[in-house]
Amino acid sequence: MNIEAKNKMIGVLYEVEDERTRQNQKWGVQNHSPIEWIPILSEEVGEASKEALEYHFKQMRNADAPENWNAEKLLKYRTELIQVAAVAVSMVECLDRNHWHHLKTVCRGNCGMNYCDDNGCSERKRILVDTDLIAVS
Ligand SMILES: [Mg+2]
Repeated sequence: MNIEAKNKMIGVLYEVEDERTRQNQKWGVQNHSPIEWIPILSEEVGEASKEALEYHFKQMRNADAPENWNAEKLLKYRTELIQVAAVAVSMVECLDRNHWHHLKTVCRGNCGMNYCDDNGCSERKRILVDTDLIAVS
């Protein structure tokens, strides 16, 4: 990823962080089961879908719309997408915070990652593979 693309991504992630802060201020820290979270995320996806739908179909039938109507509709769509991402982040935070059953959240290696598979830490395995490649060459 080039530096310009990475900076744009980081900018979006800051917006997601701002939205997460806003959500925490509004609702407090949320602890829900996975089956409770999915409808919450789906509600936000539905709002993004509504904005996309209106942008596509209403502009086609609304030649008399104000000049900035399309831009405002896309801005609402963008806002909803940030909310979708923020809810998804909140879902991951909740999952990690609550150590749901059947989820291995403790790293058995030194990488500090949250997840290890049955064969151990995926980050450690990557390093081992890299080391093996160096040893072979
Ligand atoms: Mg929304």
